[in-house]
Amino acid sequence: MTVQPATPRAKRILMVGAPGAGKGTQADAIAKQFGIAHIASGDILRRHIAEGTTIGRTVEDIVNKGELVPDAIIMDMLRKPVMAANESGGYVLDGFPRTVEQAEAAYRIAGTLGVGVQIAVHLEVPEEELIRRLLARARGADDTEDVIRHRLKVYEEKTRPLLDYYAQRELLIQVNGARPVAEVTWSIVVQLQRAFKRPSTHATPSTRQPVDRAVA
Ligand code: AMP
Repeated sequence: MTVQPATPRAKRILMVGAPGAGKGTQADAIAKQFGIAHIASGDILRRHIAEGTTIGRTVEDIVNKGELVPDAIIMDMLRKPVMAANESGGYVLDGFPRTVEQAEAAYRIAGTLGVGVQIAVHLEVPEEELIRRLLARARGADDTEDVIRHRLKVYEEKTRPLLDYYAQRELLIQVNGARPVAEVTWSIVVQLQRAFKRPSTHATPSTRQPVDRAVA
């Protein structure tokens, strides 16, 4: 019989970045590296739309226009997979939270479950590079140039304020995402390993990370 070691602290990572910043790619790599789940709110929504579920029919127009889906739908949709992942090592959440309101709601729920500490990873990529990547990837209805510009505007208005939120409350890791994929992954993994070694990852001003410029 194999004796399991005491369950280590679950690793809870949030990817924050504009559309095209590489959140999905990096979340995948980080999830593999640490053996945890990759949960992508956009992927789950697209699956609902493809399958024509009730949620899918409700959100289809919103997603295709690049607007944000109402918080209640997102919270309901993510609760089960997030709780399950939390029981089995942790997760990388990609695409959630998208607003300070969602972060606050997630924090309240996490607090009542005793799973409050999370680390946010911010992938910073200049806007011209984001537009270039998104046009090259052009995936379907949500990828016309107008919609791409709108999604970037929504990010600036609704999601970027999250960075201040995380810098104050939890740990924020800043990463330059305008570099080759493997280099970005390496940079994130190194900073996460450092963060996981700390006795507590609750943010205090001294736990804030400088902008990652070390890797050329
Ligand atoms: P993504 O693949 O993360 O870029 O998400 C694609 C689309 O799904 C977004 O443009 C939004 O319409 C919707 N979406 C994904 N995650 C969220 C979220 N946390 N809150 C609201 N809408 C979301």
